Amino acid sequence: MLIHLYKINHINKIKIIYIILFYFILHLFNYALADNIYKIEKISSNGIITLSLSLFPDKDSVNTIKLFMRQDLATPQVENIRCGNNVLVQDSSGYWLVPSACNKVYWDVKSKQVDDQFVDIAEQMTLNFKKAGWILFSESSSLLRIHNNTDPLSLLVSNKTIPLLGATAYNNGWLVPPEDGAPEFFVIGRPAIQVERIAEFTVSYVIDNPKQINLLELLNSHKKILFYFSKLLSIPTQLPKNEKSLLLILIGIDEKNSQVNGAAGRRSFIANYIVEKNKTFNSLNEQYSLLTLAHEQFHQFVDMVRFDQPGESSVWIEESLAQYYAIKSLQSILLKDDLIKFNKKFLQTNDAIKLKFIEIEQQIAQGNYENYPLCYSQGAQFWYEFDQALLTSSNNSYGLDYLLPELIKGESKEGQLPQLFIEKAYNIAGNKIDGLLMRYVK
Ligand SMILES: [Zn+2]
Repeated sequence: MLIHLYKINHINKIKIIYIILFYFILHLFNYALADNIYKIEKISSNGIITLSLSLFPDKDSVNTIKLFMRQDLATPQVENIRCGNNVLVQDSSGYWLVPSACNKVYWDVKSKQVDDQFVDIAEQMTLNFKKAGWILFSESSSLLRIHNNTDPLSLLVSNKTIPLLGATAYNNGWLVPPEDGAPEFFVIGRPAIQVERIAEFTVSYVIDNPKQINLLELLNSHKKILFYFSKLLSIPTQLPKNEKSLLLILIGIDEKNSQVNGAAGRRSFIANYIVEKNKTFNSLNEQYSLLTLAHEQFHQFVDMVRFDQPGESSVWIEESLAQYYAIKSLQSILLKDDLIKFNKKFLQTNDAIKLKFIEIEQQIAQGNYENYPLCYSQGAQFWYEFDQALLTSSNNSYGLDYLLPELIKGESKEGQLPQLFIEKAYNIAGNKIDGLLMRYVK
């Protein structure tokens, strides 16, 4: 009997120690993995957002913590960067230097107010839809990042009174991606949100104008596009559940604006759609809206596919593939009559080749974006011909879809297509591939 009791006590003790240890390890783990906490402290009535970044300086390190903005397309919107009452000074390279005793840096973000006016969302600015009562918060223009950051994870949280939505939930906050990956978008406030389960993903749609008549069709189409991509490419099994949650922010623009834009983030993206008053669904405007949606969704999907092995890629390959597969994904959505015109407009253009992709890539590397749009138009045309060459050479057995994983996961240096991808394509279509590369790429 005594022995029996002793045994029970022993087991309980082990359990208790185990549980305490477990929590202790869990606590250490969380703490170590999320040292960088960004917090939205307050928002003033004129749209100034005050943020803070808690720092845990390494006591053994003699190096000063330096802060910087990501070098994206975005224009920085940060100002008044301070620790206590002291404004941070910048060194000759533009880094803001954090004094050694400082453990919390504050700054303000001047959001851009955009009620009833066209704004290019591709600029990745933090935008204040004041009338609608919410803010699109762009990480690349608004968050200061830590130079030589040693902590892999950063979180964005907010004051309890400020509703905040991101793409990837983590530890009562939202993940902020690493500085060298795709940026992220967040939503502050309470816009209309619709949550849908699509394939293995949870998609939160943030809609600027829920009364828009064509919105339902737009969401249904997006659902089909996401299904199409999930059949085309497989997501790595190691991708954690919280990484399969997507945030899609839809911002309507008047049809008199001649451009429909989008910007893809890591697990979030923003896309314009054209607001129409009296037109039918399958108009050219709708096609542009869907094309933008599908293009950004492709970028975002590819980021998930590359989860465990992100490699070096080229701008022209990324953009041309996003455009070609956006076009392909719409084949089952558009009505037959519209589809013929659509394909003529975007795929079978027979336009002369204006500049080879290697040269376009070099220009982009030098900051010259003059021929960047060719990555879309000429890019879709190139992949269409490439796809056709593979299909016609293999009795319709192997097209570009078959080689797509190789293309996405292969390394591309200075605008060259991945070597293994080219070899496999050559095995299927032989000299046709050489011909295409000579005409379009090299
Ligand atoms: Zn793109």
